[in-house]
Amino acid sequence: MSYCVNCGVELEASLQECPLCHTPVINPKTIGKPVPSSPYPVDKGQVEVVKRKDLGILLSVVLIATSVTCLLLNLLIFNHTRWSLLVIGICICLFVFTFPAVYYSKTPVYISLLADGVSVAIYLYMIGFLTPSDTWFWQLGLPIVALITAMMEIFTFLARKFPFTILSGALCLFIEIPLFCVALELFIRHMLTEPLSITWSAVVLTVCTIIDFALITILVKKRLRNEVRRRLHF
Ligand SMILES: [Zn+2]
Repeated sequence: MSYCVNCGVELEASLQECPLCHTPVINPKTIGKPVPSSPYPVDKGQVEVVKRKDLGILLSVVLIATSVTCLLLNLLIFNHTRWSLLVIGICICLFVFTFPAVYYSKTPVYISLLADGVSVAIYLYMIGFLTPSDTWFWQLGLPIVALITAMMEIFTFLARKFPFTILSGALCLFIEIPLFCVALELFIRHMLTEPLSITWSAVVLTVCTIIDFALITILVKKRLRNEVRRRLHF
């Protein structure tokens, strides 16, 4: 049995250096003799971590295979309607949605949000194109998608510009939700050619305004803010 000359730890015969203090092991009796093989396995036996590139390849294969099989099925067998366009559209939307996360992480966030909105709008337009009337798309679908995209952009801008906390995020959300509801009600009334006024969204607006004032008070008053943080653990 050998021991390290520096720290005295017991050494395996196969060791070339002390595992504790890394002092080289020189045993005069073993000089010139073959070194016994290490008792420990060389392979780490760990599964390699999945890389983003592999995930991208898998997703591309699934999306392309789905699109192509549906297109062929549509052309060759179930060819009464152009239903495969709906499936292909979903595949394209999924590709656009996952693009920054899976394919290219350096995509600017505002551009990727805009691309998401545009892809959904194009998809809805296609549905409108395939159905007898596309009035709903121009009067309801497109305005709603545009509004949601704009709100997401504003939310992202504010979250990046100002120190983002749960409280400030909630404030931002409770300002955007009633605005969205009011716009939605106005869009619906416009489509149904009713007089432009608000009823149910006014209720949402009132409730959210009260919550907004409470949140602003909490954010401004440091003592209140700290108490809320202490009680809710954030
Ligand atoms: Zn040692």
